[in-house]
Amino acid sequence: MGLPYDGNSSFLRGAAQAPPLIREALYSPSSNLFTEHGLDLGTPGRIVDASDLELSDEPGPLAPVRQAVAELLDQDARLISLGGDHSVTYPVLQAYGGKYKDLTVLHLDAHPDLYDELDGNRYSHGCPFARVMEEGLIGRLIQVGIRTLNTHQSEQIERFGVEIYELCHWTAPPELAIDGPLYLSVDLDVFDPAFAPGISHHEPGGLSPRDVIHIIQNIPAPLVGADIVEFNPTRDPLGITAMLAAKLLKEIAGRMLESS
Ligand code: MN
Ligand code: MN
Repeated sequence: MGLPYDGNSSFLRGAAQAPPLIREALYSPSSNLFTEHGLDLGTPGRIVDASDLELSDEPGPLAPVRQAVAELLDQDARLISLGGDHSVTYPVLQAYGGKYKDLTVLHLDAHPDLYDELDGNRYSHGCPFARVMEEGLIGRLIQVGIRTLNTHQSEQIERFGVEIYELCHWTAPPELAIDGPLYLSVDLDVFDPAFAPGISHHEPGGLSPRDVIHIIQNIPAPLVGADIVEFNPTRDPLGITAMLAAKLLKEIAGRMLESS
């Protein structure tokens, strides 16, 4: 499902234009619909397009997202949401928290997104995981790829008991021990901007596509939901980031199907 929304972005707009361009890249004749493990996502019924949700562009909470996701979860869907800025993940996880107890969230991002508020906005794309943790929506939050910690966000990590893998200590993708269902949230700025220029916050020193694909292919738990957020097409003139988002979409869908 596409969540074409960028009203809670703190720096640049543009992420609202992402969902149709990720779909276009997914179905581009320049590639095919097979995962690297050989699953054909073009087989009818393997993936279903729930289309784009209609959303305002005002800053603030996103109750329609929670509602729409809850309806899909009632049908036992495993949802992959296409952002939109990262603020969409909070209402998505509100819906998931109503269905799954003690969900583990694996969050790939340059930023921890744990601000209590950013520029006066508690729903900012810099805040979703503070809201998620305050509400006790999930059991565990594991963050990988972080390289922008400041004092406040370090305090929030302590306060909420977040498990964090900062890139300053990176040697190889971490071995994750996870029980029970897992939700994956991928902010495309986890990648080095050389691989993913189409994002709002260029933060050098990030992961490679192979690092992240390795993590996805080796998720050691049933994958019940995911989002791919923060693609900003206004900074992606060659379509490189759109193709990367589509690649992630394929590998995430493949992992979901393998682990169901
Ligand atoms: Mn980020
Ligand atoms: Mn983020």
